[in-house]
Amino acid sequence: MRTTIAEGSLHDLIRQSGKIVIFGHENPDGDSIGCAVGMYHYLRSLGKHPGIVINSRLADYLTFIIPEGVVSYYNEEPGVCEAVVAAADLLVFLDMNARSRAGDISKAVEAAAKGGNPPSMVLIDHHLNPQTEGFDVVISDTEVSSACELLYQVLLAQPGVDGNVANLPLECARAIMTGILTDTNNFANSLFPSTYLAVSQLQARGVDRDAIYDEVFRSYSERRMRLMGFMLQDNMRCLKQGVGYFTLSLDDKQKFGFVRGDSEGFVNLPLSIKDIRMSALFTEEVGFVKVSLRSKGDVDVNDFSHRYCNGGGHKNASGGRLYMPLAEVPAYFERKVEEFFTK
Ligand code: 5GP
Ligand code: MN
Repeated sequence: MRTTIAEGSLHDLIRQSGKIVIFGHENPDGDSIGCAVGMYHYLRSLGKHPGIVINSRLADYLTFIIPEGVVSYYNEEPGVCEAVVAAADLLVFLDMNARSRAGDISKAVEAAAKGGNPPSMVLIDHHLNPQTEGFDVVISDTEVSSACELLYQVLLAQPGVDGNVANLPLECARAIMTGILTDTNNFANSLFPSTYLAVSQLQARGVDRDAIYDEVFRSYSERRMRLMGFMLQDNMRCLKQGVGYFTLSLDDKQKFGFVRGDSEGFVNLPLSIKDIRMSALFTEEVGFVKVSLRSKGDVDVNDFSHRYCNGGGHKNASGGRLYMPLAEVPAYFERKVEEFFTK
């Protein structure tokens, strides 16, 4: 479903704005950083000097598309990020359905919104239930593979681009391709006819898809592969309802020398087993347990996350948080699975 508010005024808003800040969601993934960087390069081609603000640093495998010195990380430089937000004329939120998904920096955003000279705000996203109030422009569509694909459609329609990918900077095209590649799990899910069209045009623009594939899916460490082996051998449980899940404790992270991004993609692994239709990964963090959920077909993990895991996302990919010790998570989850599939 497509929701739009004042889509046609995006170009004017950009033209009128001097100081522009682009946000990605917390725990940034390839789609989030892909569209932030894609938007950055498009705005640079218009002579703008935008900044990107992200809650915390990305996994190493995503840093290859980030231009030097362009991203500020809120958890490392909160004062700098707050000052940039307070001074901005235009705030652009990508790959998130609500401003709060930008993480702790959203407090500074809400303060700016209530201030004497509030910035304009734009939302471009592909999640369910987009926040519309408080935005000048909203472009939200769930019938696309990724926020990057939607951004591609939006940028193509801008005056000056005029439907021709050749009018987009190559670096913009490359960042957008990265988000499509990662959000579709290398073209395994969430594919629409428009996705193939976008990818075809981006490749024709000169984007080296194979090089991006190597950066994203062939840059793993030996350490990560060993952790994956442990998770599959010792940790994966399969339930009679067709659900597979694992937990990853702080202790095991330490044992395997875990670094950010090492568990990327693990949540998908149980889904490659026949008859498994939903999978979950519970990762112990300090103070909470991060939840990742994936599913096949009609199993709605957005609904599951919303009901039981304080989160949301998409029908076949969602996330959330649990505030209980990791040791209590399996019993809680198995109870909720039973409830969910017998309702
Ligand atoms: P992941 O499992 O890769 O962290 O997240 C999968 C999807 O769920 C993403 O589309 C992400 O935006 C969404 N998601 C992850 N964590 C949360 C959360 O805490 N709240 C909400 N509303 N969505 C989340
Ligand atoms: Mn996305």
